[in-house]
Amino acid sequence: TEFISANDLASLMDVNVNEVIKVCLGMGMFVSINQRLDAEAITVIADEFGYDVEFLSAEEEEISIDAGDVEEDLRPRAPIVTIMGHVDHGKTSLLDYIRDANVARGEAGGITQHIGAYEVKTKNGVPITFLDTPGHEAFTAMRARGAKVTDIAIIVVAADDSVMPQTKEAINHAQAAGVPIIIALNKIDKPSANPEKIREELSQINILVEEWGGKYQSQEVSAKSGLGIEELLEKVLLEAELLELKANPERNAIGTVIEASLDKGRGYVTTVLVQTGTLNVGDIILAGPHFGRVKAMTDHRGKKMKTAPPATPVQVLGLTGAPQAGDRIQVMETEREARETATQRLQLAREQSIRTKKHITLDEIGRRL
Ligand code: GDP
Ligand code: MG
Repeated sequence: TEFISANDLASLMDVNVNEVIKVCLGMGMFVSINQRLDAEAITVIADEFGYDVEFLSAEEEEISIDAGDVEEDLRPRAPIVTIMGHVDHGKTSLLDYIRDANVARGEAGGITQHIGAYEVKTKNGVPITFLDTPGHEAFTAMRARGAKVTDIAIIVVAADDSVMPQTKEAINHAQAAGVPIIIALNKIDKPSANPEKIREELSQINILVEEWGGKYQSQEVSAKSGLGIEELLEKVLLEAELLELKANPERNAIGTVIEASLDKGRGYVTTVLVQTGTLNVGDIILAGPHFGRVKAMTDHRGKKMKTAPPATPVQVLGLTGAPQAGDRIQVMETEREARETATQRLQLAREQSIRTKKHITLDEIGRRL
């Protein structure tokens, strides 16, 4: 069984992939950047870098989020989308255009703020949630913490450039996570844009777009003029339909921390992506070693919210500290229970930091590939 590539392993350990390759060579293993490694190799290599490896099964993770739900409890939810790609290929521009176009549609209420995620309503009213933390670093960091928050990855490639190293890395990350990919061929407004060349280059790394008889949806877009973006969103919805994304809105919320910070006036401000259940003002929450009661919730336009159903990103006030991106956040029955678990986790974290070995967690998701 093979899990992740040498490159993914390097990212998880925060070292250069060349160092990993060198260490492998030193042990008589010839490993290429994108080569998938088996459990034994991962364990041995990680050990060389001072890491312990724990293998979790993807199913185990999923079971814990949907535990106890029966089919009748489940309702369709919005897809959660991450945009990845090479630097300067237009990730931020695309995210901005999609968010601002939504504001222009008259659904606005206030000034948009960056909270790490936002929800837009497409033309026919169907919602899509975007993680506004572009770059596969964020994606990898969350996956390394065992968080699976992305349903669909949009890989941006600038049509006036080429398939670049980070394009390939982003594709690898999405594939390792088993997340479907849609290709956005950006900067199509530029006279030098040559999308056919990009499709050709993609075919060389086994990404055959539909126009080339393959399975990957792609869309020519301009994050500058907006050309093709509506079509891109429709393709996201098409992909989402195939995934039949569902969650139970009638249970205590479980979600993932997208980002957190300390605000002078408001205290700890945490952006949470609710994944199942509904988060309510007044709920007692636990996130990593922190807990609290939800004092207030706002969306990315600063609009106050009382409830946040599945796939909704919300900014939450009321935690006692700032959890890390990728930490799970969950509603607890009593404040006492929340405080006790938080205290235990704090103690555990202190003990672990005393030990010398660092620890990484890989999920077993790669084995399905
Ligand atoms: P990121 O590094 O992937 O987030 O890329 P950015 O969104 O910061 O874009 C990099 C540069 O390309 C910026 O100067 C953008 O204005 C420009 N850019 C992005 N998308 C387009 C596009 O569709 N057309 C044109 N002409 N320029 C674009
Ligand atoms: Mg950017």
